[in-house]
Amino acid sequence: MAKTKKPAAKKVAAKKPAVKKAAVKKPAAKKPAAAKKTAAKKPAAAKKPTAAKKPAAAKKPAAAKKAGAKKPTAAKKPPLRKPPLKKPPVNKPAAKKPAAKKPVAPKKVAAPKKPAPNKRAPKKTAPKKKSPATASAASDDDFYDRIFENNLRWIEEKTRTDATFFERLSREQNPTVLFVGCADSRVPANEIMGLEPGEVFVHRNVANLVPNTDLNVHSVLQYGVEHLDVKHVIVCGHYGCGGVAAAMQSADLGQLNGWLREIRDVYRLHVDELEAIKDETARYRRLVELNVQEQCVNIIKTSFVQQAYSKKGYPIVHGWVYSLKDGRLKDLKISFRDILEKIREIYRLD
Ligand SMILES: [Zn+2]
Repeated sequence: MAKTKKPAAKKVAAKKPAVKKAAVKKPAAKKPAAAKKTAAKKPAAAKKPTAAKKPAAAKKPAAAKKAGAKKPTAAKKPPLRKPPLKKPPVNKPAAKKPAAKKPVAPKKVAAPKKPAPNKRAPKKTAPKKKSPATASAASDDDFYDRIFENNLRWIEEKTRTDATFFERLSREQNPTVLFVGCADSRVPANEIMGLEPGEVFVHRNVANLVPNTDLNVHSVLQYGVEHLDVKHVIVCGHYGCGGVAAAMQSADLGQLNGWLREIRDVYRLHVDELEAIKDETARYRRLVELNVQEQCVNIIKTSFVQQAYSKKGYPIVHGWVYSLKDGRLKDLKISFRDILEKIREIYRLD
């Protein structure tokens, strides 16, 4: 028992035989149902901080709300694809084929039926009027429609530079990295790593957890390690994580209680270190890091990661934290081998 006390290994992992490009074939893969949309509604935190053990933490609600408690789905959603709408110039030529289909086709076929397209017309004019009550509903419609327009533009862009883009990807995926991240809309896996479709296998959930009994994340892990033969498994948390903030409060969060308990367990494991940090924000940030570290440990415990590593020398498990404020990725330098060595006696599965 005493051994599990301090899994906090902070040594820099000298990247050993990270066995680079070991070309291993993998079957054309289909993504399992990864990235499940865990439309997490982080209930507005602590309406009444029952002051369980840390009165300090109870003051956290401010941070929690800011971090996204309860808002992710709000109408004010981050303007994902807004720019593209105002910048059709880039796609003007491209839009010919796909985008033109809609408006052009119906015009010819039903020339006299100009009133028909009226259906669409109101949508476009609505936002101009900006009538108080209907304004947000109309913009929601626009936002939704825009997604499909964006999709067509994106197809154009991809095929313009690489005509075989989709044809190639439809045959197989060959990711080198498996990314376990938070479902937070501000942490898009591929984008923050600058990777293209096909380059990273992704799983996301609230607060980037790897609970030992979660079939979803374990299925993704096993598939990624055994079938896709990924070389690196990354757990990526982020400062300002609403899930972690919520776990620092004593509020009853209903359905989320069981999930967030995983983070409270991390707090318990590192309670001495965390309670010694007086500054709430600093403690919150440290918990984000420790949570990432413990999820890495959970991955290292698995039989398929241990077995794959002893056979091939990979995958290597890494812990990262992403900063919402400046977009930086920070490698926590978690020592995969040290942790593996420490926990081997307890979790070894021969
Ligand atoms: Zn988060």
